[in-house]
Amino acid sequence: MATLGNEQPRADAREALATLIDVLREIVGSSGLLLDDDVRARHVGMGSRTSIQARVLVRPASTAEVSAVLAACHAAGVSVIPHGGLTGLVHGTDAQAHEVILSLERMQRIEAVDTTQRVLVAEAGVILEQAQNAVAAAGLLLPVDIGARGSATLGGMVATNAGGNRVICYGMMRDNLRGLEVVLADGTVLDSMNALVKNNSGYDLKHLFIGSEGTLGIVTRIVLRLCEPPAGRRVALVAVPDFAAVCTLLRQIDHAMDGRLLAFEVMWQDFYHAVTTPPALARAPLPQHYPFYVLVEASVGDDHQPDRFEDTLGTLLDAGIVVDATFCKNERECAALWALRDDVAQLRRFGPLVAYDISLRLADTGHFVETLRSMIAERWPGARLWAFGHLGDGNVHLAVNVPDLDAQRRAELDALVYAPLQALRGAASAEHCIGIEKKPWLGVSRSPAEVNVMRSLKQVLDPKGVLNPGRVFDIEQGGI
Ligand SMILES: Cc1cc2nc3c(=O)[nH]c(=O)nc-3n(C[C@H](O)[C@H](O)[C@H](O)COP(=O)(O)OP(=O)(O)OC[C@H]3O[C@@H](n4cnc5c(N)ncnc54)[C@H](O)[C@@H]3O)c2cc1C
Repeated sequence: MATLGNEQPRADAREALATLIDVLREIVGSSGLLLDDDVRARHVGMGSRTSIQARVLVRPASTAEVSAVLAACHAAGVSVIPHGGLTGLVHGTDAQAHEVILSLERMQRIEAVDTTQRVLVAEAGVILEQAQNAVAAAGLLLPVDIGARGSATLGGMVATNAGGNRVICYGMMRDNLRGLEVVLADGTVLDSMNALVKNNSGYDLKHLFIGSEGTLGIVTRIVLRLCEPPAGRRVALVAVPDFAAVCTLLRQIDHAMDGRLLAFEVMWQDFYHAVTTPPALARAPLPQHYPFYVLVEASVGDDHQPDRFEDTLGTLLDAGIVVDATFCKNERECAALWALRDDVAQLRRFGPLVAYDISLRLADTGHFVETLRSMIAERWPGARLWAFGHLGDGNVHLAVNVPDLDAQRRAELDALVYAPLQALRGAASAEHCIGIEKKPWLGVSRSPAEVNVMRSLKQVLDPKGVLNPGRVFDIEQGGI
């Protein structure tokens, strides 16, 4: 069998790739195949370091074509790198010269918005926002929402188990996926496309592929559950005196709203200051001197207590758990508050940033962030840390600026952030996955036994290791 790895003689590799290109052209036609400059001229996405290195990009238009492409690449021993909307942030889509990129961009069909079964059936290349709009037009809600909704694909979101703003209420992709069609490395089509809520008939295989980052199979079609949209929502920005009050606020407001909290987004003071100070466009809706700010959103029904949200926050204000608050009166004000929370790009004005996306138990989070802040300031005077995130789900985003950051400082910074997570049973990735970037830190959140089972699964489903190699873990490595 010819392989195209670096160890192959170059002439052999070139010949094998030329043969494969002919086979791929037969499968997808000329318009489905891009080569050389046409590949390298393409946008690489936010998460990539360099321009695209790969020579070949194949764009199948159906599951049958994906299957034939994978079978051909498998037979040739050529690695395949799946591309969705390229919004991933951990280099999961980086492709080397000898690898074939498989893009789902021609598989964008919304097959059904089934209002009886309340599911969406769609191809993997559908953009989240297009799916959301189609579902809304049918009077339903697609519950998963992320900041990258304008580019991220449903397939990429399954492959990364995406979460986002409403996880506290609706969960991540895993919680919303009813059915899945996946093509395995050798071209086998695994059809788990039933739309059932209950199906305890043996192993539920679709869960293997959720969050597998394209290393176990290519997601081609998806069934997502849909919900009734809330009758209305209330949004407020509240200021809180300390982290203990953040925890109390979360429990009490969710309890008072009968578990109908839609979002609970916490901003530490530095972050709030940065996104409400010029040149940031937002003006501070509350003064900038409070230690914590929480964007709270809850759904409200047509019940007999329309002011329950405001009344509860008023009671918490009297109790000193909340020290200031502002309520949105209309959609425009809600959008302005969310824009402020999402304006992470503002932080770039302070210099290059390293971004982290970690998970912790809520009770550990306040102390963890303050300890980290002190360690970073002590190690690199002038360094800065901004913290914010979906605290309702225990997910903190950290942005760190370290002066004169080089590879050694970056490695040290990574160790300061990640190493303490193991003892706290936290996770090195809450949302963005492992990809290439966080591979050295997989062992922080997964035990050696868990990683060994992952390797065994990879061996069974992709014995030649051709699907997205080098992501999540290295196959040949004995342990972590
Ligand atoms: C501004 C911004 C905001 C974001 N907000 C959030 C957020 O709130 N929550 C969150 O979870 N993430 C968030 N992300 C991260 C990112 O959007 C998600 O990881 C998203 O799910 C990736 O989808 P994609 O289609 O862009 O996938 P890509 O970036 O193209 O690929 C991501 C990974 O999945 C693999 N892959 C892609 N398509 C398939 C497929 N069909 N089958 C198998 N493997 C595939 C790729 O090889 C890669 O490993 C954000 C990113 C940005 C840039």
